[in-house]
Amino acid sequence: MAGEKGKRKVIDLTDERPVYIVGGGPGGLAAAAALRARGVRAVVLEKSDAVGASWRGHYDRLHLHTTRRLSGLPGLSMPRSFGRWVSRDNVVRYLEKYAEFHELEIVTGVEVTHIEAAGSDWLLHATGGRRLTGRAVVVATGYNHTPELPEWPGQDAYTGELLHAGQYRAPDPYQGKDVLVVGAGNTGAEIAVDLAAGGASRVRLAIRTPPHIVRRSTLGWPTQRTGVLARRFPAFVVDPAARVLSRISVPDLTAHGLRRPDKGLYRRAKEGAIPVQDVGLVAAVRKGAVEPVAALASFEGDQVVLADGSRISPDTVIAATGYRRSLEGLIGHLEVLDSRGTPVTRGGRAPKHAPGLYFTGFTNPISGMLREMAIDARKIARALS
Ligand SMILES: Cc1cc2nc3c(=O)[nH]c(=O)nc-3n(C[C@H](O)[C@H](O)[C@H](O)COP(=O)(O)OP(=O)(O)OC[C@H]3O[C@@H](n4cnc5c(N)ncnc54)[C@H](O)[C@@H]3O)c2cc1C
Repeated sequence: MAGEKGKRKVIDLTDERPVYIVGGGPGGLAAAAALRARGVRAVVLEKSDAVGASWRGHYDRLHLHTTRRLSGLPGLSMPRSFGRWVSRDNVVRYLEKYAEFHELEIVTGVEVTHIEAAGSDWLLHATGGRRLTGRAVVVATGYNHTPELPEWPGQDAYTGELLHAGQYRAPDPYQGKDVLVVGAGNTGAEIAVDLAAGGASRVRLAIRTPPHIVRRSTLGWPTQRTGVLARRFPAFVVDPAARVLSRISVPDLTAHGLRRPDKGLYRRAKEGAIPVQDVGLVAAVRKGAVEPVAALASFEGDQVVLADGSRISPDTVIAATGYRRSLEGLIGHLEVLDSRGTPVTRGGRAPKHAPGLYFTGFTNPISGMLREMAIDARKIARALS
């Protein structure tokens, strides 16, 4: 396998009709391991030079906000020594170890560009003019595939620095700088806290819709477990309970410019807005180290115009504005995507008109994506064996 750079095993791509897995992140690796455990040959095609490419590129401060125990993939737990909240580097170590432990067949440096039906098989077009035929395909190219940077008016002529959160690694380059972070999801909130702690002269957080903020754990009980339980109940039950819990556990930040959200936590989560786990935001906002401001409306020269009409002149704008799935080129023609570009099925179910085409990792549930991908991997393996 090619998890460790430089140590590549030669894999025979001419072998007949394996299951191809597109993407060597946790979702793809979990599916490959679950298939292998059932005796099904699976080959992972990964466009970068190693497994876990997304995790290698995340910012230094990042730790899982789901617990180690609820984030392990099928057939290999994360070691206790990683602690409860696993660091980015340890996630990468785990994925490397995972591929090695399960002896997964991984071909790195191969990007799949197009997938089409070929009778009852699937034909994959990949870099280097490769044509690969598989009996089934698992698409695991990631929910966070392509950085989403909105096109704000005046953006092209903006003279300050503008970058996507995906390019942010650490606060050092921003020491002494005035930074505006746009978007109060988990990434935006965490980067804002990181910048404030790391010496930025001023940090503002532009917020369009106030997020739900939850504690990572309360008296040792991780919020993720509540998320797992909450999925069994409808939103009209979960949302009022979450509101009460939030009022008890998270202080009101309205006086600091961050009001409580109007819409219920679960309703918003179902729309894709996962609650923000507090890893320092509440304290930073109370101290004034992170200042909530209105949403970014447009740029004018070196100025940023906010939705409330105010103008500010930060040195740097970091857009924590999410990612796109970017599946259109790969499978758009197969009519398996909904209006938001998300696959219509997941786990062990393939679309009716595309039997043999499976998806993992394209939902963002409050119970934790790694946990869901582990469940889906087993379902895919069961469906294919
Ligand atoms: C900052 C951040 C923090 C997160 N924290 C948590 C957390 O605490 N707990 C949790 O449960 N989840 C978390 N997630 C969500 C999720 O678990 C991760 O995004 C996880 O990496 C998703 O795994 P994946 O395999 O679906 O996608 P990725 O990890 O993105 O892997 C996709 C892989 O596919 C490859 N690829 C893409 N396109 C192609 C192609 N056409 N051909 C070949 N290869 C291709 C990519 O190079 C990549 O290696 C977090 C996400 C982010 C962004």
